[in-house]
Formats: sequence, structure tokens, C-alpha cells
Amino acid sequence: MTHAMQQTDDSVLELFQSRMTNGYIRREDIRQELANSGILRDDPRVKLLYHALDLCEERISEESFHELVAYAPTLIEQIFRGSLIVPDFPSFCSKLRTFFHDTAAQKQGSVATYIPQLARVDPDKFAVAVCTIDGQRVALGDADDFFCVQSCSKPLTYLLALEELGDEVHKFVGREPSGKTFNELTLNAKGLPHNPMINAGAIMCCALIKQGRDPADKFDHILQRWREAAAGMRVGFNNAVYLSERQTADRNFALGYFMREKNAFPEKVDLLQTLEFYFQCCSIELTAASLATVASTLANGGMCPLTGQQVFQPDYVKNCLSLMSSCGMYDFSGEFAFRVGLPAKSGVSGVVMVVIPNVMGLCIWSPRLDELGNSVRGVEFCKRLVDNFSFHTFDRVNGLQRSKLDATKSLSEQERAWKISFIWSAAVGDIPEMRRLIARGTNPSSPDYDGRTALHVAASEGKAAAVEFLLERDIDLSPVDRWHHTPLDDAIRHEHVDVQALLLQAGAKTHSQLQEEAVQ
Ligand code: GLU
Repeated sequence: MTHAMQQTDDSVLELFQSRMTNGYIRREDIRQELANSGILRDDPRVKLLYHALDLCEERISEESFHELVAYAPTLIEQIFRGSLIVPDFPSFCSKLRTFFHDTAAQKQGSVATYIPQLARVDPDKFAVAVCTIDGQRVALGDADDFFCVQSCSKPLTYLLALEELGDEVHKFVGREPSGKTFNELTLNAKGLPHNPMINAGAIMCCALIKQGRDPADKFDHILQRWREAAAGMRVGFNNAVYLSERQTADRNFALGYFMREKNAFPEKVDLLQTLEFYFQCCSIELTAASLATVASTLANGGMCPLTGQQVFQPDYVKNCLSLMSSCGMYDFSGEFAFRVGLPAKSGVSGVVMVVIPNVMGLCIWSPRLDELGNSVRGVEFCKRLVDNFSFHTFDRVNGLQRSKLDATKSLSEQERAWKISFIWSAAVGDIPEMRRLIARGTNPSSPDYDGRTALHVAASEGKAAAVEFLLERDIDLSPVDRWHHTPLDDAIRHEHVDVQALLLQAGAKTHSQLQEEAVQ
């Protein structure tokens, strides 16, 4: 047996021992642990594992556990060690359910009516779906209903154009927000579309993809890439939407002719075919669940978390996310970047696709739109999400009071880390850091495993300023550690006279004084 294999065996044994009672693990407990972590049964990475689990005995021995783990060694290790990107997935999901429920109360806005197919959609439909970069998934509401992606097709169209032409793409389309509505008849100073996230720019990208190829091949190509980004989930096409889009597309035709008049297109572009391709892209259908997976592929630098396939190149994903950040939410893009601070793309079907880089992708679908064309509930849900979790790109700015939750750490891990950090800061007398940690919600009286508090260590180390800082707070003055010492005992033992004076003045006691008082 090689050294590497030996190591793997040892760590599997460790995992087994961490969960076993009386020499076995219950099959149900493993199923439960997988489900809690958000790794679902239809995940291609665990299909075989689930199948093997079904065939296992109720009680899983060490030997069968080794066989099971072999189906998805890394994933099982991550799940059992709590090292998936959102370690406490059930708590995260429960927060999402609350936001979902609260947002569902919103009934403002109205569905898009420019084509009958969109006007007929049930306005009360509502879905939220999440897929993390480790493939943890949750879907709420109507997450299995198909809807057309509309403008959510634009990021993918842009990515495919980049893939073929690289930076050349920007000889044909700009990178600035237009400051105008998505279908405004306007081009930039160079006579080019402002960016790929508005109609003119997306039509241009459609012209750049597979130039000169048969329209059917072009469509197959884009459909195939959608499927890959969605981990092979079903990607549909709504022919009625397509036909309707084509019928009522005067503005898009106008944009096309305007660009052609300005010589914006590469040579030999068939304008009619290009526009038809654009309408087809808008009529592609996904569910909230599958679109969240596409968003997670973008969040994961172009690699689909469920299949491990590198669907898009990371540097192009970076370009795409940059433009989604500045131009993805119609005329609300600047406000969305300010308020929510995440790359997102919205479409008139009421969809909002949100990317939290290196963490997760989300899709919110609710057909009622506000006056700017964004889903009312979609925007509202995003606001709630970033009000509670530190997902805004600039939530990590130094010195910011961190009162939000970090979904990438479990709550106990965060609290423990802050507590230890606080005690450590007291030991070295780092008052600004102590201030910051209190602002984040750290309790200044919290003891460590040995019952030592910040006041104990500051007193032992003779950090008078830190002791003074602590005494100004509402804290326990005479906590007792596991060796029966109070902070005053520590100050006396280490002969820090100034600290002793501060503690005595505040009314702190030694352990023996406390005992005497208890007897009386
Ligand atoms: N098919 C729509 C159009 O081109 C897309 C609108 C959108 O979702 O922004 O008018």
C-alpha cells in the first residue's frame, strides 16, 4: 500500500469514528447528513453513492463505509468535516425561507405585456433557487417551472462571443453603461452598442458567434453551452415566445438597421439571421433551479460545480461579471450595484440571476416587474439577502462594523473565532481591535474553554489600558477560571500594582473574598 493510500485510509477511518456508535453508522444518518449539507440525490457526483447507500444494510460497518466513501471521497470528506463553502447549510436555508416568505407578500408591479405569452404568465409565481460553488442546492416555491430567460441570455451570448474572438469582441461592442433603457435606439460615440447587456450589444454578440455558420448550428451551439453550464439539466425552447418576439420586434429590427447603417457589424453579417438568433436566445427556457446552477458556474470561475466541467474560461467570466455589475439590471444597475453590490442580470420574464463570486449563484423568478423592468420580488429578495449576510462586494472593507452573518462560516465557528480574538487582543492591549470585535457582537465577558476572560488575561499581562477599557463596559468584574482565579488574583500574583488599583476601585474581588461572601 502506498503512503498516499495509507493516508486516505486513515482519514476515512477518522471520518467513520467521528460518526459511529457501537461500531457502526446508521444508513439514515448518512442520508440525513448528505441532505442537510445540500448535496441532492440528482447531483451527478453522488448518484452512484446514493445508489450504493440504498443497497447497504441499515447499519453501516467500517468496511462498507470505506466502500461508500470511495464513490465520492472528496465530497464526503468536505461534508463530514463541515468544510463546504456554506458549512451550516440548514441555517442558511432557514434564513432564505424567511426572506422568501416575507418577499412573497409583495404584490406590486405588473407582468410584461409586450407579447401575449408573457402577459399570460401567472403573476403570483415565485421561485428562489441557490447552488453554491460546492454544489449545495436549495429550491423554494415554483423552482421547477420553466420560463424564458429573455435578457438573462445576454451574459452567455457575450461569453460565447469572447470565447471565439477574445478581446476582439470589444472592437464591436463597448463596456460602458448606456444610461438609457435597454432597447433605446442609441449607440456610443464610436457608433457601437454601449455594452453586451443591452439589446444592441447582445444583438452584436449574436452576430459574432459562429459567423457564417448555419443558423441551426448556431442555435445548437448556444443550447449545448447552456446545458453544460446547467450541469446537463433540461434546457428548453419556447417556440411561441420566439414567434411572438419576432412579430413584435420593430425596435430590435430598428437597432439592427441602425448598427448596420453605422457599419458596426463585421463584414458579411446576415442581419435577419442575427436578429432571429437573438430572439431564439431570449426564448430559451430554464427553471429557477437550473438557472441557479448556471449562476453558480459563473460564481465558480466558469467551472460547473456539479460536473466539474470548465464551461467558460475564468478571465472571460471575470469580464462578464464586471459588466453584469455595471449594466445587468437595466436603469437600476447603478442603484443595484450600490445597494446590493453583486453582479446580476435581469430579464423581462421576471427573472434575476445573481452571482456571488466564489460562493454561490442564485436565481429569483417572479413575473411582476417594476417600472424599470426588474422583478419587484427579485430586487426585494436581493436586498434582504445582503442586509443579513455579508455578500455585498464591499462588505469586507476594513473597519466596517461587521454585524452581518458570514454564510461561509458556521455561526459557532465565527463566534468562537471572535471570542478568542477578543481575549488575545486584551492580552496584547490592542484596544482598537477590542472595540471592533465588540461592534461585531462579541460579548466582552465571554470566557474561553478554561474560563479565562479578556479581563483575566489583561490583568495577568499588566495591560492597564485594556483593563480600564474593559471596566468601562458592563462586564463581570470577578469571573472565576478553572484554577479558581479571578482577574484580581491574577493582578496580585503577577504584581501589577496599577492593575490591582483599577480593579479594586471598580469593586473586583479575589476568589477567597467571593467565597467568604458566599458563606455569609
Ligand atoms: N426579448 C426582449 C427584447 O429584446 C428581451 C427583453 C429583456 O428581457 O430585457 O425586447
